Amino acid sequence: MINLTLLGATGSIGQSTLAVVDLHHKQFQVFAMSANTNWQAMVKLCTKYKPKYAVMTDENAATQLSAQLQNDTKVLSGAAALEMIAEHAQTDYVMAAIVGSAGMASSLAAAKAGKRIMLANKESLVLAGDIFMQAVKDNSAELVPVDSEHSAIFQCLQGGTSGLSKIQLTASGGPFLHTPFNELSAITPEQACAHPNWSMGRKISVDSATMMNKGLEVIEAHYLFNLPHNQIDVVMHPQSIIHSSVYFNDGSTLSQLGNPDMRTVISYAMSYPKRIDSGVDALDLTQHSPLEFYPPDFEKFACLRLAFDALKQGGSAMGTINAANEIAVAGFLNNKINFIDIAKIIEKTLTQSTHHFPTTLAQVIDNDQSSRAIANDIMLSYA
Ligand code: NAD
Ligand code: MG
Repeated sequence: MINLTLLGATGSIGQSTLAVVDLHHKQFQVFAMSANTNWQAMVKLCTKYKPKYAVMTDENAATQLSAQLQNDTKVLSGAAALEMIAEHAQTDYVMAAIVGSAGMASSLAAAKAGKRIMLANKESLVLAGDIFMQAVKDNSAELVPVDSEHSAIFQCLQGGTSGLSKIQLTASGGPFLHTPFNELSAITPEQACAHPNWSMGRKISVDSATMMNKGLEVIEAHYLFNLPHNQIDVVMHPQSIIHSSVYFNDGSTLSQLGNPDMRTVISYAMSYPKRIDSGVDALDLTQHSPLEFYPPDFEKFACLRLAFDALKQGGSAMGTINAANEIAVAGFLNNKINFIDIAKIIEKTLTQSTHHFPTTLAQVIDNDQSSRAIANDIMLSYA
């Protein structure tokens, strides 16, 4: 039996992970799970999965959960408890599916404890990629991507990297692929969250609409596959059937295809190097004609350009754009700024921040906080 710690159990990835667990309950059991504030959902999950630990980041939510639960699940709260369930000796695999920089410390704890980390929290790599990858290496942790593009590349590279010339991330372009630039400023949060192919949390849905998600994924790929920016490419592919491709110097290109459903990616991370049923239907290529491909528009999707710029600068620049993006996306979702201001706020924050190369998690967190403060100040002038 494999014990799972599920960080971010109430989220979109958390729910899809539990759907895969349901299909394989003789092979996997939930050892611990976490959520931020949604104790009502956690009451249901803890009643069904009976984990040993349930962590609510929010203290009041932990009190509520504890009062409602009728079983032996131990309810804890706070960031230290998150790290505890990530590094616990009794857990085997950790699904790191907290959204945002709040997920960084617990993913790192899992890496330091030498676990299999099923990494959905791309922010861990964007903010602290060097530190995180070093911890994976030093502690012989096993890192398996839980992002459709990176899982695709990981799968295509199972035969090795001999002759690898570049990797290519596919991007659906989100709901505004064909929207003219001058119409972007009128977009509402509801429109931005209505992704044509993937069902996701609100923050990553907005990131898909601005293409910052793809930008963060370029940085994620840089660390996961140890490749420089000029060997990482992006192509627009609105159908989201090809999840990404790998190009070799003999003219071969390998791609991974499938229906856009994260259960395929999650089940692969859980069963790797084997495969198990994920509950996802087989792909029927005849239903998806024609498959389209376009080069990305770096002017319209300025966030993608900014992410490449940050990767070229290296060091703190990547954490800075991530922090500014989190602030700006929250501002947009709360109707404080409009859609095109997101990229403007990120660009100004990048210009106003001091660039450096953090070597400790404390420095990373420091940069995250100072970048958030700068972004918040800039946002006030847009509100
Ligand atoms: P979501 O918003 O649906 O869920 C986020 C989870 O994190 C929830 O369980 C929530 O309780 C928890 N959380 C939120 N804020 C927290 C905080 N401050 N402290 C502790 N926990 C907190 O998000 P999601 O779509 O499931 O995405 C999770 C991660 O996976 C993100 O990093 C995202 O980029 C990545 N990802 C998601 C998808 C997808 O299809 N949803 C695909 C690829 C990668
Ligand atoms: Mg992705």
